[in-house]
Amino acid sequence: MKNPDRYLEWLRKLPTDDVAYSDAVCIECGSRGLSFQYLGVSGNEFGWKLVWCGECNSGIRISRTKIPNDAVVLVRENEQKEFLDSHSNIRLIS
Ligand SMILES: [Zn+2]
Repeated sequence: MKNPDRYLEWLRKLPTDDVAYSDAVCIECGSRGLSFQYLGVSGNEFGWKLVWCGECNSGIRISRTKIPNDAVVLVRENEQKEFLDSHSNIRLIS
């Protein structure tokens, strides 16, 4: 779904700290608790982050984001493909 204003609204409402995602409220459906996953490239501290709501499956993709040192990040192509295949129901707002 193309909706730049909504995308910015998501960005504004997201917690700055990853530990707070479990307590964050989805702006689409109001349920509490958002999920996220980092995907990256080997040897590069920047990657992208997928954020989504497990209730309504709305989400956004954040490009060029710095991956925290302690984050779980999918780097291998088959890992990324498997993850994206199993989360293909996410409706990305962009
Ligand atoms: Zn939701």
